[in-house]
Amino acid sequence: MKKRIVLATAIVVVAALSLSLLVGCYGDKDYFKDLDSYGFWSNAPDEAIAQPKIGQMVRDFLSAPLSDGKTAKKVAFIGYDGCRADALINVLDAPEEVDGDNVTGLYSGIADVLGDDGAGIYYAYAGGTKGGDDEQHTSTAPGWAALTTGVWGVQNGITDNGMAKSIEHKTFMLEAAEGEYGTVYRTTFAASWKEHFVQSYADEVEYLRERSDVPEQQLSADSDPDDVAAYLDAIAESTSIPMSHKFVSDDEALHEYLLACVQEGGEQECDIIFGIYEGTDHNGHGTGFGNDNYKYIKGFRNEDAMCYQLLQAIYARPSFESEDWLIVITTDHGGIETWHGGQTLEERSTWVVCNKGIDPEYFGSGYDGYGERG
Ligand SMILES: [Zn+2]
Repeated sequence: MKKRIVLATAIVVVAALSLSLLVGCYGDKDYFKDLDSYGFWSNAPDEAIAQPKIGQMVRDFLSAPLSDGKTAKKVAFIGYDGCRADALINVLDAPEEVDGDNVTGLYSGIADVLGDDGAGIYYAYAGGTKGGDDEQHTSTAPGWAALTTGVWGVQNGITDNGMAKSIEHKTFMLEAAEGEYGTVYRTTFAASWKEHFVQSYADEVEYLRERSDVPEQQLSADSDPDDVAAYLDAIAESTSIPMSHKFVSDDEALHEYLLACVQEGGEQECDIIFGIYEGTDHNGHGTGFGNDNYKYIKGFRNEDAMCYQLLQAIYARPSFESEDWLIVITTDHGGIETWHGGQTLEERSTWVVCNKGIDPEYFGSGYDGYGERG
C-alpha cells in the first residue's frame, strides 16, 4: 500500500514537472500584449510584416526611378541575429539617465536611424503561418533567406537550417549585381556563420564561381574556415558579377569589413551591403534569450553600437547628400530560454527598422501572432 502511494506521488510530481516544462516550451501568451505596451511601434500588432515582404520592399526601392537630385541608390541591410522584439526597449525606452549618463539612444544604430524623418520601427514576423503550408522553422537560414529572397522557404527551398536554397529564387544582392534593377550594383553578403556559404547559399556561391576562373571545390560544414574564406575571396576577385560573399571570423571582423565597404572610393566599396551581427544570438544560446539575461542585452547593445558606427561612416561619405540610401535593420527570429526554431510568440515575433518608413502596402493583415488569418 505504502509503495503505491509513493508511486502515485511520484507520478503526480513527474506529471506536474512535465506540464510546467511544456508550458515553458510554449512560451507566454501575453508576450504579444507586452510588446504592444511599448509605445514606439509604427504599425499595429495585427499588421506585422511577413519577412518576405521586407525583401520585396528592398526590390521595389531598387526598381523605382531615382529621386530628383539623387545620383545613386545605396542599400545597407543590417542584421542582428536572434534579436527578440522585446530587446528593443533597451535602446528605445531606457531611462534617460543612469548614474548621470544619458543612455537613451547613446551609440544606438536603431535609435540613430529612427531619428530620420519618416523613419519607423515595425512589428514583423518569422516562421510563416503556424500550421500552414508556409510554416518554417524560426531559425537562422530560413529567416534570412525569406528576407533576402522575398519568398518563404516553401518556395526558396530553405524551411530549416541545413537546407540549400534554389537558384530560381535569388537574393536581392545577386539580382542587383546582375543588373536586374536597371543598374549594375556592387554588392556583398557578409557573415560569420559558415553554413550560409557552404550550405544555404551554395547555389549563389556556385553561380558566381561558374562566372570566374576559380576551379570548383566541394565545401561542407566540415570545411576549414580559412579554406572557405579563401575560396569565396578568390571567386569574388575574378567573377564577372560584382557580388562578393565574405566569410569573417566574428562580429569585430564583420564590422571592420562593413566599414571598409561603405568607405567612398575605398577598394572594397559596395553599393549594397548585407551583413549579420551575431551578438544577440550568440549570447542567447549561451545564457538565454530575453531581457532578464544581462549578457543577452549586452550582446544586443554591442552590435547596436557597432551599427551606430557603421551609420556614422555612411553619413560621412563625401557624396552622402546626393545618394539615396535605404537603411534597414532587422532580425531573422527571436528566441526563448536558450533556443529558437519553434512557433512560440517569443521566437516568431520580429521587428524591422527602416530609415524611410515602410508603406502600409507591405503590412500584414489580421496577424494574430501565428499567421495572417484576418
Ligand atoms: Zn539566427
